[in-house]
Amino acid sequence: MPIVNMKDMLRHAHANRYAVPAFDLVSLDFLEGIMAAVEEMRSPVILSLAESHFEYYDFALIMAATVAAAKRATVPVAIHLDHGENLQSVIDGIRLGCNGVMVDASHHPFEENARITAEVVKTAHAVGVPVEGELGYVPGVEGEDAEKHPGEIRYTTPEEAARFVEQTGVDFLAVSIGTVHGRMKGEPKLDFDRLAAINERLGIPLVIHGGTGLSEEQYRQLIDNGVAKINYYTALADAAARRIAANVAEGAKGYTAQVKGVREAIAAECRRMIALWGSAGQAEAVLEAAEPWRTVAHVIFYNTEGLDEAQAKALRAEGREVLSRIPGVLSVETGTAIQPSAPKFRYLWDVRFCHPRVIDYYRDHPEHVRYADERFRPVAGERITIDFELDE
Ligand SMILES: [Zn+2]
Repeated sequence: MPIVNMKDMLRHAHANRYAVPAFDLVSLDFLEGIMAAVEEMRSPVILSLAESHFEYYDFALIMAATVAAAKRATVPVAIHLDHGENLQSVIDGIRLGCNGVMVDASHHPFEENARITAEVVKTAHAVGVPVEGELGYVPGVEGEDAEKHPGEIRYTTPEEAARFVEQTGVDFLAVSIGTVHGRMKGEPKLDFDRLAAINERLGIPLVIHGGTGLSEEQYRQLIDNGVAKINYYTALADAAARRIAANVAEGAKGYTAQVKGVREAIAAECRRMIALWGSAGQAEAVLEAAEPWRTVAHVIFYNTEGLDEAQAKALRAEGREVLSRIPGVLSVETGTAIQPSAPKFRYLWDVRFCHPRVIDYYRDHPEHVRYADERFRPVAGERITIDFELDE
């Protein structure tokens, strides 16, 4: 714990009129700064990793750290794939520990966006993971991230939003009502009437991308009109960059001297937003309201018949390869009993699922069925299969 179901988390925020910060992180300094701030202010948090940032870090490595940080947190945490490009990105994100995913097909025309998003929802929901879609288009204007979102703004309409949610089944919707990715130029004009109409039609948590640079009053109005998740990155990156520039100006030479204080600068910016968005002090209520996110261990003890050790090893290697690709599977470990005195069961499968819903999905998945029927069962001897819900 306390990784929690993101759908419960955002429903709580939506119902109680505050917004959960979805801070995008690009390094350990971000991760540690964010966690320090949310722990101090007792705020729920979404640790967000944007596919558009994958060139800056190794996704698998940063996810390992992110999951570790979430597990040792005392405030509720969800881990979100931000701006996932396609179904495979989403499957990969879930495998590494994301328990919420966004697919961003908002640059496509409506029907294509709805088709791609619905496909992602089908798979993600089958393994228990909620999905954010985006309708309308939030462009980039200025900032280190802006060029990743080229093009003109396209506003979300309430009618299209209703049709989109119905056709796709998304749990949360990112809407375009006047914000931009990166830094705002001039005074941002937000269409709150439009937002209010969308919120009324949909009744699901809404998401704002491009949350940097709005006024306190604008944040308040966003939240009053259904925004329960605010994506926030540019201002964190700017705070980090300012800290580094100041260190350099003061004569800092080496790497560690130049990045000194970056964590604290990020934490300070996070605290400012947590206070503005009303999520401070909500941690305990969310822990109460949200389903804990529990991993399942699908364990098989077994023996083989008619295989020598090398053949048995090859069979396991093939299984690890095939089965670990199935959506919702976190890992596939296999093993052989250490004690030489022929234990009752010689071999082990230890397959981890991201959610109890994966148990049925995995069993019926064509890749599992094929491996089990054609490769495993013909040579498997006595065996025992148990699904365990893992303790915190
Ligand atoms: Zn975004």
